[in-house]
Amino acid sequence: MAKKTPKTDVTAVDHLIVGAGFAGLAAAIKLQEAGEHDFVVIEKDSDVGGTWHINTYPGAECDVPSQLYSYSFALNPDWSKVYSPQQEIWEYTKRVAEDAGVLDRFVFDTAVLDATWDDTAQRWRVTTSDGEYAARTVISGSGGLSEPRLPEIDGIESFQGEVFHSARWNHDVDLAGKRVAVIGTGASAIQLVPELQKTLQSSGGHMDVYQRTPNWIIPRNERRFTGVEKAAFKHVPGLQRAARAAVYAQLEGRAPAFTRFPALLKVVESQCKKNISKAISDPELRAKVTPTYRAGCKRILISNAWYPAIASDNVDLVTDPIAKVTGDAIVTADGVERPIDVLVVATGFYVTEPPIAQHITGREGRSLADVWGEAGMAAYKGTTIHGFPNLFQIVGPNTALGHSSMIFIIESQVRYIVDAVRTMRREGIGAVEPTAEAQAAWTSKVQERMKPTVWTTGGCASWYLDKFGNNTTLWPGQTFAFRRHLARFDAEQYDTRALAQHPNAEEALA
Ligand code: NAP
Repeated sequence: MAKKTPKTDVTAVDHLIVGAGFAGLAAAIKLQEAGEHDFVVIEKDSDVGGTWHINTYPGAECDVPSQLYSYSFALNPDWSKVYSPQQEIWEYTKRVAEDAGVLDRFVFDTAVLDATWDDTAQRWRVTTSDGEYAARTVISGSGGLSEPRLPEIDGIESFQGEVFHSARWNHDVDLAGKRVAVIGTGASAIQLVPELQKTLQSSGGHMDVYQRTPNWIIPRNERRFTGVEKAAFKHVPGLQRAARAAVYAQLEGRAPAFTRFPALLKVVESQCKKNISKAISDPELRAKVTPTYRAGCKRILISNAWYPAIASDNVDLVTDPIAKVTGDAIVTADGVERPIDVLVVATGFYVTEPPIAQHITGREGRSLADVWGEAGMAAYKGTTIHGFPNLFQIVGPNTALGHSSMIFIIESQVRYIVDAVRTMRREGIGAVEPTAEAQAAWTSKVQERMKPTVWTTGGCASWYLDKFGNNTTLWPGQTFAFRRHLARFDAEQYDTRALAQHPNAEEALA
């Protein structure tokens, strides 16, 4: 078990997991099942759940059906509806963590400040806001969508009213009767705007929604599960697994349209246009919300409430570009000034330049941010990185999805990582990193597969693309193909080095 070495005051552990969201929690549970009990999970927030703990904005819900957006090893017969609300998903992660008996090794309210590879000790030396660790492996589950991106708008820092990001909702601010502005019309905004609209309507408030680019939004086929269904999920053997498999097959069937035949996505566009016509009668507003790029190029959103909300009397959709923010207003390029009391920015996250990369230093003394800054994010099988031994990244480059559940990807990566750890133990390996050739070959194969996808050809700018114009975020294929690639730890694609002569942590760290 984790112990502080008296000489160095460093806690030596076999595995240090960063983040207690779906990824970090799965890693902890599966390591434990594999007999690897010596780990810590370092979490900067106060509880498990990751994005589902932090994102508490009104209306936060999952847009992937919960039957699939849950662990395969912890099915939940009690989901209240097809797409679960944030609170329910967060409670699910808490329950899974408690049931697995891993929480004694979770360290909350603690941030990872620095992780540097020590080649002699064959350990990562990790500095956190609450102490030092020396870990044989670092498994990062820090999340692709965790660092809020604040918009760079002239004068925004001079705004005198309340301002907050959708992922850091300030529940102390009473919005009743206020003049609110929301910047952004992505997945977060389309959920929170309809909720705010209701609050403001009943209290005489007003909202301006600033849209830079419209999204394709299809109807949300939402429904609650009945008591009978829940009882059946619980008691009829295999039923819930079959329901999960059906959702998986349905979503997976859509992948080829995104990855190989984007023209098929015109069907989605007509569904979306019907959604618009149903809710909006004003032709000018209809035109404003209709995208001009191929559906799927940006994430396809699902909502029944967005169009009615922006068509309502107490909401204005502003499409003129924002010129500046003043102490009490937003001014658009046409010179119009709209006074506000509260500013909500729903402007997304740092995805292709993850801030944690600045704090990870590899074998050659270079930070991951430096290495990735040269040509963009890259990792072998989205998980391991040349020059960064024994570092495993869950939800790494080219692992995110535009069509299905990230939990499937997370579990695929965790299986691979656990197999790597098993292999290292069995073979007496102290350090593994993918060869430069293996990583380059993987990356070029992925980028080749990316060429015909809608994310490349669809005619939009999205957060999937990095500053070089490459899509380094999404997996350009079927999820079962990803799982097959990661089915076993392929040590032959790695540089491996035998465990150093001083496996004793105290000696190594002295
Ligand atoms: P996002 O999709 O990146 O959307 C950000 C929005 O802010 C976009 O409309 C963007 O416009 C706009 N924006 C950014 N900078 C701006 C600026 N300087 N001026 C004006 N507008 C600006 O972020 P998000 O909505 O938080 O969603 C991020 C991802 O999180 C989603 O794609 C999804 O994967 C996930 N998510 C999932 C759920 C769910 O499952 N229910 C909910 C929320 C989020 P442009 O389009 O022009 O860039």
